Amino acid sequence: MSKVIYLDNNATTPVAPEVLDVMLPYYREFYGNPSSMHTFGGQLAHAVNDARAQVAELFHARENEIIFTSGGTESDNAAIRGVLEAFPEKRHIITTRVEHPAILSPCRHLEHQGYRVTYLPVDDQGRLDIEMLREAIKSDTALVSIMYANNETGIVFPVKKIGAIVKEKGCVFHCDAVQAAGKLDMDMQTLAADLVSISGHKLHAPKGVGALFIRRGTRFVPFIMGGHQENGRRGGTENVAGQVGLGRACELAMSDCRTETLRMAGLRDRLEQGVLERIPETRVNGDVEHRLPATMNVSFAYIEGEAILLKLNEFGICASSGSACTSGSLEPSHVLRAMGVPFTDIHGSIRFSFSRYNTQEEVDRVLEILPPIIAELRDMSPFWNQRKK
Ligand code: PLP
Repeated sequence: MSKVIYLDNNATTPVAPEVLDVMLPYYREFYGNPSSMHTFGGQLAHAVNDARAQVAELFHARENEIIFTSGGTESDNAAIRGVLEAFPEKRHIITTRVEHPAILSPCRHLEHQGYRVTYLPVDDQGRLDIEMLREAIKSDTALVSIMYANNETGIVFPVKKIGAIVKEKGCVFHCDAVQAAGKLDMDMQTLAADLVSISGHKLHAPKGVGALFIRRGTRFVPFIMGGHQENGRRGGTENVAGQVGLGRACELAMSDCRTETLRMAGLRDRLEQGVLERIPETRVNGDVEHRLPATMNVSFAYIEGEAILLKLNEFGICASSGSACTSGSLEPSHVLRAMGVPFTDIHGSIRFSFSRYNTQEEVDRVLEILPPIIAELRDMSPFWNQRKK
C-alpha cells in the first residue's frame, strides 16, 4: 500500500515525537508509584503536578482545578455523574441531540433511572437556538452539558453565550471540549463553564489519558472512588507517562495554536473547494462560518460513504463516514439526522479531519484520487442512473 494519508484526526491523532520523548523515561526508568513513601516513587508526584500545570495553562485555569482521567469518555461521565450526585434533589439535565455518545449514552441511562433529559434540537446548519436553551432551564435543572465543537461536522457552538445563560439561571454548565482543545483558544476566565472535558489522543498525546477542569467551588462527587489520588477526586494509580505526555501536548498546542489553526484551515479549504469544483451534487454539511479549522463533512449524493471509504483505503487514504465511535455500525449519523440532512446525503457523507502533520501534497493527491472514485461508484448506482433520466 502507498504511504498513508491520514485525514481522520477527529478519530485520533498520532502521538507527537516531542510527546513520546518526554513519556519514555516514565516507562523505562521512573516506573515508581507517585503515592509511594520512597523517593524513587514519590518523586513522580512532581512530574504529575508539572503536567497538571501544563494542562491548566491550556485552559488558563488553576492547577488544582484540573484532574486527570482516562480520556474524554471518562471526563464526560465523571462530569455528569459527579454533578448529579452533588445535587440529588435536582432531576433534570439539558444537552443537545448532537453530542458524542460519551454524553448521550449516560443521559439515556439516567432517563431509565428517572431523570428527565431535554435534548435540544439543532437547525439544518447544525446550529443551536440559545433562546430554546434559556426556556428549557427549569428550577430542578441540575446540569447543562453542551459540547464546544462537534466531532462529526466541526460546528462550534456559542459556548460563551451558553455559559452566560446557564450561569444567569444558576445551573452548572459542563462543556465537552474534546474536539476543540488545542485547536481553539480556551480561557476559563471568559468561558463560564464549571466543568470542561478534554482527551489526550485528540491532540497528539496518547490514548487512555484525559483531563477534566472542575472550577473551584463546583460541587462534585468523585465518579471513580478509590485512593486519595487527584486530591481525592479520582481514585486510581496515576498513568504518569500518559499524564506527562498530555502536559507536553498541551504545551505544544499552546505554542503554535494560532498558526497551526490557520494552516489547517487552509488545507481544509483547499480540499473542500477542490471537491466542490470537481464533483457535482456534493454538499458541505453544516455551518461553514462556525466550524473547527480542521474538519470538513461532505455528502456525495446517491452513493454509500462506506464504499467511498473502502476505495480511498485502497490508496492509503484514511477518512471516516461518521464518528469513529459509531462507525462499525451502519446506523446513519445521529448528528446529520438531527440537522435534517436527507437520508441519501447522510449515507454518502464523509468526514475529513486534519492535523499539524498534514501537507498540501496530501490534499492534492486526494483531489486526484477522489473524483474518479465518486464517478465510478455513481456509475454503478441505480439511484444515480435513475436520477439522470
Ligand atoms: N467527546 C467528543 C466530542 C469526542 O469526539 C470523543 C471521541 O471521539 C469523546 C468525547 C470521547 O473521547 P475518548 O475517545 O478519549 O474517550
